[in-house]
Amino acid sequence: MAVNTKAFLEINEQLQAQQVTLVAVSKIKPAGDIQELYDLGQRDFGENYVQELAEKHLLLPNDIRWHFIGHLQSNKVKYIAPFVHLIHGVDSYKLLLEIDKQARKFDRVIQCLLQVHVAQEETKFGFNEIELMEAMDAIHKYKLLNELRNVEVVGLMGMASFTDDVEQLRKEFKYLKLLFDGCADLPWNTQFNTLSMGMSGDFKLAIEEGSTMVRIGSLLFGARQ
Ligand SMILES: *Cc1c(COP(=O)(O)O)cnc(C)c1O
Repeated sequence: MAVNTKAFLEINEQLQAQQVTLVAVSKIKPAGDIQELYDLGQRDFGENYVQELAEKHLLLPNDIRWHFIGHLQSNKVKYIAPFVHLIHGVDSYKLLLEIDKQARKFDRVIQCLLQVHVAQEETKFGFNEIELMEAMDAIHKYKLLNELRNVEVVGLMGMASFTDDVEQLRKEFKYLKLLFDGCADLPWNTQFNTLSMGMSGDFKLAIEEGSTMVRIGSLLFGARQ
């Protein structure tokens, strides 16, 4: 199936007016599809699988900002650490420490989002509210010790439930925004500016509820097999 350039141009214009960042989710889609949106000006692309991302990064232009939006295993961080722009799904302290370690090897600071579990499905990853507060606390303590210098936690990411129930979706986005604001208000937390929520089916709702970054795949690239 072909890239939907018409949908891209419409969504892109709308998001630019709203100052929301569009991450085009290109998982499973060929490099040629990515190049097509790149040629129309898109620079932020999201991938879910480490090996696929590493391969596409070699094939495609250097100024693409690659977002890793999948579930990242600690032992695979090293493959994307040299170039990844933003890691959305950090859901454990151990993973954050590993990203810091790998980023240091390449003398980089890697931006990360903490993933929060807001959906009803138990299969989705992420911190709950209490774990999130504990993680923020731990990050602050490490930063005071001048550690964790090669990661910057710049916000939160969440996935809403797989449902058409608008009120349920709205409730989950509102909750995520509330947690985001709580973290952003911590006086030491000056770099916290990104709330990644909203996909093809729910991004308009997510933006109404305060999203600053949406991850859109099928609307742009067609349905996945
Ligand atoms: C696949 C994926 C998306 C994009 O989903 P669409 O419904 O195709 O827009 C967004 N976020 C995450 C984490 C994904 O895995």
